[in-house]
Amino acid sequence: MMRSPQVDVPFEVRHHCWFCGEPCNLQFDYHALPHTSHPSLAVPACKECVELAKQTPLTSIYECRVAVKDALMKRYAKHLAIGLNWTEEELQQADFTCKTLQSFQRSAWFMYEVARDRVNFPGWLLVLNGVPLEDHTPETGFAFDGVNYSSLFVAIEHVSKAMALDKDFVAAIVAITGKQRFAYAIRLARLHIAADKATKRQVIRELTEDHALAN
Ligand SMILES: [Zn+2]
Repeated sequence: MMRSPQVDVPFEVRHHCWFCGEPCNLQFDYHALPHTSHPSLAVPACKECVELAKQTPLTSIYECRVAVKDALMKRYAKHLAIGLNWTEEELQQADFTCKTLQSFQRSAWFMYEVARDRVNFPGWLLVLNGVPLEDHTPETGFAFDGVNYSSLFVAIEHVSKAMALDKDFVAAIVAITGKQRFAYAIRLARLHIAADKATKRQVIRELTEDHALAN
């Protein structure tokens, strides 16, 4: 597949992941589909965020970022909880006697800070060849069936769970149909609720071809 043009990277964050701010030497290629609100582009990204982003491109790089942050939050929930349960001083002063807890005491705050900073890292404005993308502060909230979700990703998770659908399959369909046709995507996923992996892949392929023809 063709490489996408890389966004401009401010000097102070060069070699840092756009998603989480960690040092990095990879990039994540976002291939725009007809309904994507921005052109294909690539952002610098760490290995972990590239893997996460590939799983949920959704319908824009911004929605993809919400999903990546969400996945990071889940993966590092234990590290993030340290900051909820302790202050740095309390942790230092805690009188741990067992060896395991002593090593926890030494590393815990650092792990918390790393996880917190990755989740909070705001990224930077996306500029392609000197031209800023129109969508500077994108609204990623998403409403479906009268419920406001914080993001399309959260909506997919919630609805898939509630209807016992394959979340990845739903996300793949939505990436092609766009979120405007979310209800259709859900219907399609329900139709194939018992389908095996090969059939689902076939559905995605046909959907991709239909969309290529329609546009
Ligand atoms: Zn990252």
